[in-house]
Amino acid sequence: MHQNPLYERILGLSTPWFVSHVDLDEDSGLVECEASASLCCPRCGQPSPRYDKRRRQWRHLDTCQFQTQVVANVPRVRCPEHGCLTIQVPWAEGNSRYTALFEALVIEWLKEASIQAVSRQLQLSWTALTAS
Ligand SMILES: [Zn+2]
Repeated sequence: MHQNPLYERILGLSTPWFVSHVDLDEDSGLVECEASASLCCPRCGQPSPRYDKRRRQWRHLDTCQFQTQVVANVPRVRCPEHGCLTIQVPWAEGNSRYTALFEALVIEWLKEASIQAVSRQLQLSWTALTAS
């Protein structure tokens, strides 16, 4: 299996989202998974022109020993019927900088260990752990 379909399955992506690129930077120990969306209205599914986009990134569960980021230019489309709408990402909620699966991992660790230990082991700041 090639890497893009593999990451689509790992992330549980489905239309309109797909993985467009996966990059491994061994020096920085980072996998970057770029997700893209087909431009269609999230309400009616009609192909719609891009209105604008916002570059975002989320920390995801590690890929083996490599910290993994999902990045995407999250588009807003202009549907002739429904107006300007954002195509929501399925892997994270709201304005979180973490995927839902990563947040679940952090919550499970916080049941088992101190904030300091979780912060150290997952390389997260105290603020990231206590903000929500
Ligand atoms: Zn529409």
